[in-house]
Amino acid sequence: MERGGGSSAAGPSPSPSPSPSRSPSPSEDRECCAGLWELPVERCERRPECGRCSRPQKVCLCPFLPIHPLKVSTCLYIIQHPAEESRVLRTVPLLAACLPPEKCKILIGRRFSEDRYPELATVCRNPSTLILYPGAEATNLEEVTLGSSSPPIMIIIDGTWSQAKDIFYKNSLFRLPKQVQLKTNISSQYVIRTQPTNTCLSTLECAAVALTIMEKNKSIQETILRPLQALCSFQLQHGAQIHHSKEHLLKNGLYDKPMPKNKRKLRRMELLQNQFFFRKK
Ligand SMILES: [Zn+2]
Repeated sequence: MERGGGSSAAGPSPSPSPSPSRSPSPSEDRECCAGLWELPVERCERRPECGRCSRPQKVCLCPFLPIHPLKVSTCLYIIQHPAEESRVLRTVPLLAACLPPEKCKILIGRRFSEDRYPELATVCRNPSTLILYPGAEATNLEEVTLGSSSPPIMIIIDGTWSQAKDIFYKNSLFRLPKQVQLKTNISSQYVIRTQPTNTCLSTLECAAVALTIMEKNKSIQETILRPLQALCSFQLQHGAQIHHSKEHLLKNGLYDKPMPKNKRKLRRMELLQNQFFFRKK
């Protein structure tokens, strides 16, 4: 089912980890957001929500949203894992609230077949469509020449690393568009949710960077990130703690959780540490 991602509606959602900025660095998926549920400021029960930003009315972020939706030619398709929709801290509604509804469409689900999603199938076959998913086969978005004939379309998967991976690899439709990644080196500003590395960006951040590149307009990034900055600073003022990335914690000897027993996870952690040491040289 498709939703115009407009101002909110019944609820596109939370968003943090997935759409990554570069290589599919270690995901600790669930672990990433373990601390999220301890946040004192928001509880699971839904309070009356603002119709535009989908935030509880008392902490509405509309003052930080652009007065008019941004004028963009790129159309975003956010493929949202169903688990993201019910998370407490949601950033996709903020993204949707910055854009005209027809430029930000949100599809929720895990499996997208051609039969059930004919429009999406057409989008995936469109040569102007790109899918943001990092990996060896992905081209840096900065290096992609966008055709001028038809407006570009960008597909972004919203979910944790493993959810995004599952969605990308188990839906053959998503292998059709050109695969791109961001080689940006901006650090995630979404400090209230632990990201695996400093350069893992939330879906909103990925969209902001991607749109800035595709629209060749730097102010887009600033405009889209403003509500996220407001959200984080509000949460921090109300007792949330900064969640440094696992990478940051490891490299500063601050990682205080037991090392994982699972060999694959342990290997990932070692990779994270090594990445740091390599970088240091
Ligand atoms: Zn609002």
